[in-house]
Amino acid sequence: MNLSKQIRLFKPSFNQEEINAIKDVFKKPWLGYGPKVKEFEKKFSKFIGSNYTVGLNSCTAALHIALAIHKFKKKKKVLVPCMTFSATAAAILYNDLEPVFVDINKDDLNISFEDLKRKYTKDCVAVMAVHFAGHPCKMDKIVPWAKKKNLIVIEDCAHTCGGTYKNKKLGTWGDFGCFSFEDKKIISTGDGGCIITKNKKYYELLKSFSFHGWSKDPWERHLKRKNDKHWFYEIKNLGFKYNMNNLIAAIATTQLKKLVNLNSDRIKIIQKYLNGTKNLKNFSYPFEFNLTKSCYWLFILKTKKRDKFIKFLKANGISATVHLMPLPYHPIYKKFKANFPNAKETWKQLVSLPLFTDLKLSEISLILKKVKFFDKYYNKF
Ligand SMILES: *Cc1c(COP(=O)(O)O)cnc(C)c1O
Repeated sequence: MNLSKQIRLFKPSFNQEEINAIKDVFKKPWLGYGPKVKEFEKKFSKFIGSNYTVGLNSCTAALHIALAIHKFKKKKKVLVPCMTFSATAAAILYNDLEPVFVDINKDDLNISFEDLKRKYTKDCVAVMAVHFAGHPCKMDKIVPWAKKKNLIVIEDCAHTCGGTYKNKKLGTWGDFGCFSFEDKKIISTGDGGCIITKNKKYYELLKSFSFHGWSKDPWERHLKRKNDKHWFYEIKNLGFKYNMNNLIAAIATTQLKKLVNLNSDRIKIIQKYLNGTKNLKNFSYPFEFNLTKSCYWLFILKTKKRDKFIKFLKANGISATVHLMPLPYHPIYKKFKANFPNAKETWKQLVSLPLFTDLKLSEISLILKKVKFFDKYYNKF
């Protein structure tokens, strides 16, 4: 198997524009936290329709501080879907809180509202809604219910950026929206992320927690260096070093400018996948793709012969993988006992196919040809 010739699962999309944006930062040079981050934050807020954005070095950082700023009592509980990336639940443990694993829906891979209500107890302080693969959670049900229970709502938007639900951007439904700009995600800066909120008090805390817990923004202090005591700040919180820097912000701002086009490219590829797979006998979809104003990160198929199918694709030069094994199966989460029959059944069938905006037509055709072959000779596998 020649792995270097294999069709990749993900690939960041960039051109000379990103490279020029970085060169620009080096001219100054001011590589760390500074004006490029501010510029990105302003533009992201405008794009997503939120009052505030804090640029960060990852979505994991965003999830961590979305919980940390509330200083919840130890061992309080956070409702989280059992099928999500490890960081969503790790953020709960970082805060000495306990995850309550909620099952997913049968007709999509998102947190089940029915099971959410069932698993809720008085000890719960927050709910994490993960828009799995970019498919929106039923935020119109989750948010009003959570507000009645006094729960903080955190949207993990690592799988989407610019997608909407009922005409409202994902990330703006809850109290916090957390985004990832990791190498494989929708916007790609190598590593990076941000958090959005409507609430000024939360915003100030998020800023402080993302920069050592300081009371003052270091760039603003720098701008006021004519003042006698420009150097003064206080440490108000136990903060972290989670800020975005100018280099990452320069790439992120360039990618943000292209995002609408990148998302429509993704939609076109998914449409081709859907057209090419609609009549298959041994495959189904994990949810009904709604491609208007959407942003999907993954194209997933379901098949009972999942492992054999992945092996077959790999042998034919096509990367494929599984998103994801339910978290309660992992040793670290085993002690948080949970019932999750839907996820148990579903995850065994999930296969993610290559999806990135530079995927060539010839590559999509090859992938579809192989999927159809597997379907036709399914019984032989
Ligand atoms: C990738 C991912 C994260 C973490 O993103 P980073 O930017 O790598 O920290 C969090 N949640 C989900 C659902 C993810 O897929």
